[in-house]
Amino acid sequence: MSRYWSKLVQQLSPYVPGEQPKIANLVKLNTNENPYGPSPKVIAAIQAELGEQLRLYPDPTSTQLRQAAADYYGIQAQQVFVGNGSDEVLAHLFNALLKHEQPILFPDISYSFYPVYCGLYDIDYRCVPLAEDFSLNVKDYVQGNGGIIFPNPNAPTGRLVSLTDIEWLLQHNTDSVVVIDEAYIDFGGESAVKLIDRYANLLVTQTLSKSRSLAGLRVGLAFGHVDLIEALIRVKDSFNSYPMDRLAEAGAIAAFKDKAYFESTCNKVIASRQHLTEALTALGFEIQPSAANFIFARHPQRDAAELAAALRGHGVIVRHFKLPRIEQYLRITIGTSEQNNILLAALQIILS
Ligand SMILES: *Cc1c(COP(=O)(O)O)cnc(C)c1O
Repeated sequence: MSRYWSKLVQQLSPYVPGEQPKIANLVKLNTNENPYGPSPKVIAAIQAELGEQLRLYPDPTSTQLRQAAADYYGIQAQQVFVGNGSDEVLAHLFNALLKHEQPILFPDISYSFYPVYCGLYDIDYRCVPLAEDFSLNVKDYVQGNGGIIFPNPNAPTGRLVSLTDIEWLLQHNTDSVVVIDEAYIDFGGESAVKLIDRYANLLVTQTLSKSRSLAGLRVGLAFGHVDLIEALIRVKDSFNSYPMDRLAEAGAIAAFKDKAYFESTCNKVIASRQHLTEALTALGFEIQPSAANFIFARHPQRDAAELAAALRGHGVIVRHFKLPRIEQYLRITIGTSEQNNILLAALQIILS
């Protein structure tokens, strides 16, 4: 703390990202990165962009990338917003669309960045408890609010809300924006992007960090009615005109175009999730049904924090949240089959 800090900074409680340890040969299953590298076409596109033109500013409107994302979903480029990771897109939408008189709503167990943005932008919020089994009931969100946001599938539980339920919520909540954070949608859900033409208050966010193996490139997107997109552009152009650098834009365009690579890596992750779920169940774990690239698991006889510490001793890092309701759970990212086998072998020793 310093007397030079603003009152706002003195009161902030920043987000704590999952650890990025600098230890070799670690089986890193703690931050939901994709275990497979990006498409070779993405690497080639970034390499082709590496050159003299880096002296020039990038396109401030990222028109080609917005078009590539629009083509992927069969929508218009004006319905797409892009930013430096979906965390930045989320920051802008909290500021642009969720700051109103009434508190916004999000689940009590959810992405822990949401309350941080509320702190940064001075937005009131109310947490809506998930059911006992961690399922999300959209009926609980029909109450006065300044906006609604939840990840689908939810993080860190992995549970999916159906598109039918989302549509029901949109029909019963028309006075504020509903944001669906689809960071993990490609691993087993159906995207709500197809609903944006019918619901002017729906905004869908996505990221290339998980399903497209590009966490290091920092590319996030939002899809919605042009009026919502315009609000985001107004905030962006009051903050940073060039959030997407040339390399990020080139790589991201190539990522949207290489559908075959994207689908094959997603399918590998989904198959590994199935296998890991069965193997962990056989070891006595209780697993939440997951549509994401991670699973949320507890062992009825073992303390989760102790399990996480023991796994670390075997060179395997998983995520443990010391938070109410979920402190006996571990969030385990789906790795390659090889990584998953190292995890299972370590657990076999720890549990015996
Ligand atoms: C990973 C994640 C994000 C952030 O993704 P970036 O694009 O890497 O900033 C947003 N929301 C949820 C729920 C996530 O898990």
